[in-house]
Amino acid sequence: MSVPTISLNDGRTIPQLGFGVFRVEPAETERVVSDALEVGYRHIDTAAAYGNEEGVGRAIAASGIPRSELFVTTKLWNSDQGTQSAFDAIDLSLERLGLESVDLYLIHWPRPDLDRYVESWHALERIRAAGKAASIGVSNFTPVHLERIIAESSTVPAVDQVELHPGFAQVPLRDYAREHGIAIESWGPLGQGKYDLFGMAPIAAAASAHSVTPAQVVIRWHLQHGLIVFPKSTSRERMAENFDVFGFELSADELAAIDGLDRGKRVGADPDTATF
Ligand code: NAD
Repeated sequence: MSVPTISLNDGRTIPQLGFGVFRVEPAETERVVSDALEVGYRHIDTAAAYGNEEGVGRAIAASGIPRSELFVTTKLWNSDQGTQSAFDAIDLSLERLGLESVDLYLIHWPRPDLDRYVESWHALERIRAAGKAASIGVSNFTPVHLERIIAESSTVPAVDQVELHPGFAQVPLRDYAREHGIAIESWGPLGQGKYDLFGMAPIAAAASAHSVTPAQVVIRWHLQHGLIVFPKSTSRERMAENFDVFGFELSADELAAIDGLDRGKRVGADPDTATF
């Protein structure tokens, strides 16, 4: 089953469905990512802050999959925001990953209190020019932060990776991103298991109507809204379940009913006030 791609504003493409490794233990990461690659995932989302880039790199090396068939994202951690610190950080990430370049490099959080995200964005532009990241983007940026880097640089981020799930659907941000050609990646796509998303009536009803699981319904909801999504699981069975989402389609009514679950409530940190 081939995964659809999304076109980015820099002319590149990204597989719409990938695999995330947040909170995957470093010691377990090689096994988990190897399983994901065997299941068929070709897009891996990691970050320096996850502490598991080495395991991702080992799994990639062991897989024998040609580099050109993989899409690897990593992220600049908050304490490395700045110019020289960002240059050093990408070099260390590439070393840990065992790669010459990543497909996508993101500023992990805006940390407006530091006021270094514009400077960091200029560093990412230079990292891309140096060939160390094919595409560059941001994560957890609100329209206010996006507006600033668009005004103060000549590069519109290719993506913004934000918390997004049916209970926190981020409609205004999605509208802003569409107007500016920024692709949205949904983190915590299953709500990180922090509320009973799978038990909600429209999701349970669609799951039973299509003889699929609630997780598959939620992943379909992201895909049919044009969002890029990389659910995380350490269980190979669930990795396979989450990848097996191209054999059914939610109807417009089913999508609308799930849209109706938006309660505007985050399960994670607020980008304007986060200080980690
Ligand atoms: P998620 O919404 O993918 O939820 C993961 C949880 O759902 C796990 O507890 C897992 O056991 C469970 N789960 C997975 N598949 C399931 C299934 N089929 N049935 C039932 N339960 C299932 O949350 P996440 O891992 O936080 O988000 C996905 C990825 O997004 C991360 O791995 C990471 O790559 C990225 N992320 C980025 C940021 C950021 O700040 N940029 C923050 C959090 C996550």
